[in-house]
Amino acid sequence: MAFALNLYPITYMAKYNPQTKNWDEQWLESDKIPHDELMAMSEDERKVILDKRNQMGTPSVSYTSQYAYSCFEGMKGFPTKDGGVAIFRPEENAKRFYNSMKGMYCPPFPVEMYVKASVEFVKKNAELGYVPKYNPEWEKTDFANAESIYIRPFMNSEGAIGVGCAQQPCVIICATTVSAYFKAGLDGAVITERIRATPHGTGYIKCASNYVISALAKKEAEEKGFVECVYLDAVHRKYFQEGSSCNIFFVLKDKTIVTPELSDTILPGITRKSVIVLAKEKGYKVEERQISVKEVQKKAIECFVTGTAAGISPMSSITDLKGKKTDFGSGFGPVAKELQHELKGRQYGAIADPNNWNTVVIQGNN
Ligand code: PMP
Repeated sequence: MAFALNLYPITYMAKYNPQTKNWDEQWLESDKIPHDELMAMSEDERKVILDKRNQMGTPSVSYTSQYAYSCFEGMKGFPTKDGGVAIFRPEENAKRFYNSMKGMYCPPFPVEMYVKASVEFVKKNAELGYVPKYNPEWEKTDFANAESIYIRPFMNSEGAIGVGCAQQPCVIICATTVSAYFKAGLDGAVITERIRATPHGTGYIKCASNYVISALAKKEAEEKGFVECVYLDAVHRKYFQEGSSCNIFFVLKDKTIVTPELSDTILPGITRKSVIVLAKEKGYKVEERQISVKEVQKKAIECFVTGTAAGISPMSSITDLKGKKTDFGSGFGPVAKELQHELKGRQYGAIADPNNWNTVVIQGNN
């Protein structure tokens, strides 16, 4: 299964009411067909149901539809080895969502509400069977192609036609089952000419408008046979920033791990933050600083990207703007492998979670 859209039947929605200054919550149930029943249907019957679920009604003339005035989150729920379900660090996504909305000058969605709604949301759908089943086979590859629940909270504005900032946003949470993120058969990363974010812009928040350039650059990269595009900084055009939907890490010859330092042009990834902690726990020296293309070409022996969807994904090479390719070898390098084992193992409950990163939604019992 790839990263495809098959929405779960139950969706959460909270609308901001400027009069009462409250968020009015509701559950939107497209249907209540249990997962097993859906799977037992003919393909045609199932398609009718899924098409309906995938088209959720939202205002079609809004700041969102015309000006990409929206923000969103991506987080994952994991079936755990003990038979339970857990969400990985939802409070971190909640804080980033809050910052995104604040950065867009609209009433921000409270952190506690976000976490509570997400937990309840996953539980309600899981009770209808919408949760992948833990498969011990996944452990053999450190969960490289394992399934999980991709949870997508996002914001939509009220109806509007002139350019402006939402005063009555609504927050929706929906989900779909996913597995591997990157397309099979493509290989290596390529530096793109495009600029994702500029100083004083919106690169540090997860607003929808940032992703138009990402979609274009990624398509261009894929058409050239690369699996991912990588951005340089807008000012000097020589320091790495991040990928289209992931942060980037390099391992240098002396085993130091380097990732670009956060600024207003880089999204503060929750996987990035977690990987830095894991690498330090493993005894690695981790530096958050500017790293240039030249330095990578001279000193790097591994490169990997990190993200909720991407997990920890090794890049076999990086090709610069002049077409010069730096090879890191195919598959996981030893450092990426070690970190992947640790991160995915904790997320799927196959190893201990000493930092209590998992929020248990459904308690396991085996
Ligand atoms: N950078 C960008 C531009 C992204 O879209 C993402 C995905 N949210 C990331 C980095 C990684 O963030 P996270 O680890 O929180 O998924």
